[in-house]
Amino acid sequence: MDSFLMPIRGSEAEDHEANWKKLGNCHDMNPEIFFPDRGASTKPIKEICNGCAIKSRCLEEALYGDPDTGGIAGGTTRGERVKIRRARKLASDGNRMRFI
Ligand code: SF4
Repeated sequence: MDSFLMPIRGSEAEDHEANWKKLGNCHDMNPEIFFPDRGASTKPIKEICNGCAIKSRCLEEALYGDPDTGGIAGGTTRGERVKIRRARKLASDGNRMRFI
């Protein structure tokens, strides 16, 4: 089996879990830029996220991390994450209704 297909386990998995955020484009950036003032454009910050290799993972953490600390994460604002959670819940409830 090719090494890149091998599952990671044990301390290697723990290291990965502790360090995945270091792979983000924002690593070493001032985190304050991800908390723009109300009414300020979020576009330049979202562009940083859009080119990020861990954007999907970051978004999932921001969606279901507890609590949502706000700011831009995974290319979304807090308000956009509220809408995504709502849409997913509706889709999930709809799927459940089909089996009743
Ligand atoms: S998606 Fe954005 S906030 Fe998340 S790690 Fe990447 S650059 Fe940082």
